Amino acid sequence: MSAPESFPAGPPRPAAPNPAGPGGGEPVTVRALVARGAGAELRIERIRLSAPGPGEVRVTIRAAGVCHSDLSMVNGTIAARFPLVLGHEATGVIAEVGPGSALRVGTPVVLNWAPACRACWWCRNGEPWLCADTTAPTVPRGETDDGLPLHLTLGLGALAEAVVVPENAVIPIPAGLPPERAALLGCAVLTGVGAVHNTARVASGDSVAVIGLGGVGLAVLTAARRAGATTILAVDVAEAKRDLALAAGATDFLLSDDRLSKEVRARTEGRGVDHAFECVGRAATIRAAWRLTRRGGVVTVVGMGAKDDMVSLGALDIFHSARTLRSSVYGSSDPDREVPALAAELADGALDLRALVSGTVSLDDAPTAFARLARGEGARWVVTLD
Ligand SMILES: [Zn+2]
Ligand SMILES: [Zn+2]
Repeated sequence: MSAPESFPAGPPRPAAPNPAGPGGGEPVTVRALVARGAGAELRIERIRLSAPGPGEVRVTIRAAGVCHSDLSMVNGTIAARFPLVLGHEATGVIAEVGPGSALRVGTPVVLNWAPACRACWWCRNGEPWLCADTTAPTVPRGETDDGLPLHLTLGLGALAEAVVVPENAVIPIPAGLPPERAALLGCAVLTGVGAVHNTARVASGDSVAVIGLGGVGLAVLTAARRAGATTILAVDVAEAKRDLALAAGATDFLLSDDRLSKEVRARTEGRGVDHAFECVGRAATIRAAWRLTRRGGVVTVVGMGAKDDMVSLGALDIFHSARTLRSSVYGSSDPDREVPALAAELADGALDLRALVSGTVSLDDAPTAFARLARGEGARWVVTLD
C-alpha cells in the first residue's frame, strides 16, 4: 500500500462572524415523511426539531430524492429503527446556525450522509468515505407529535420541510441550481460518478456493463460515457428502462435474463466487459456481474444489500478468472471536495442530469413516489418543497 497522501479538508468555510446567527434557539415543528415500522404505511407527520446546538445547523429542504436505500429500510431489507424520518439525498438552504458556527444563514447546501470526522485513521489515510465515526446515523434527533424519539435515515431524515444536522453534514453549493437535480448530488450522482472515476477508474475505450437502472445505475451510465467508455451496456429486468438507459448514456440495453452472459459476450469480442457495476445489492446480481466480466476485469458492487444474502463463487473460478471484486461506498469520494466540483459542472452544463429525474412530487405525494420506486417505474422521483 502506498503512503497516505494528505487529503484536502474540503472547501474553505467562511471565517467571518455570522451576522444572522445564532438563531432564536426555539424548537420548530415541521412536516416529514415518517415510517412507524418495517412494512407500515408511510405518513406525513408533524415532527418537532430542537434548535441547532453548537456545531449544528437547521436546513430548510428544497428538494429530496427518493432513493432505493430508503425503500430498503421501509420494506425491511435493511434493518432500521423506528419511528424513522425517511430521506438522505437533498438540497436546501441554511435557515439557522448553532452558537459559534461559521456557516451563514441563506447558504444553499447539499446534505452529506457520511460526514467525515477528519480525525480517525481512515480520514487521515485519505479514505473519508470509510470514516469510523458512525455515531450520526444512530443518534435519535427530534420527536414525533406523540413524544417518541425520532430516528433519521442515514443521520439526515431529509424528506421533511427541515432538518437539524451537524455542520459537517452540509456542503455549500452555488446558488441558482435546479433543486431537483442538485439534490441528486448528495447520493445517486456522487455514488455513481465516484464508482466510475474513483473506485473502478474506468478509462477511455473500456467496456462497461451496469446492472440495475435506478438513480445510481443511471448515474453510472452517465459517468461511464463521460469517462470515454465505448461499449456501455445497461442491464435491467424491466424493458421500460431501455429509453431511460439510452438517454443516460448507454450504448445498448439488455434484459436481465438467462441469455444475458451470451449477449454481453457477443458485444465484447467474446471476452466479457472490462468493468461490471452491480447497482442492485443482491447476491444474484453480484454473481451475474461476475459472470459478465472478462478475465482480469473488475466487478464493482455499488448496491447496498442484505446481511444474510450470501454470494457464492467457486474457488477455482476466483483463481482462474483473475477478476477483482470490490465495493464502492459513497463513490469512494470525499463529498466536501467532490460535491462542489459536481455542482460547478451542473451549473455550467458539463454535467447533464435531466435524464435522471423522472419527475417531481409534493411532500404529500411522497408515498406515491415510494410506490413507483417499489414497482421499478422511472429513474429518480424527487420531492420538491416550496
Ligand atoms: Zn441514496
Ligand atoms: Zn473519520
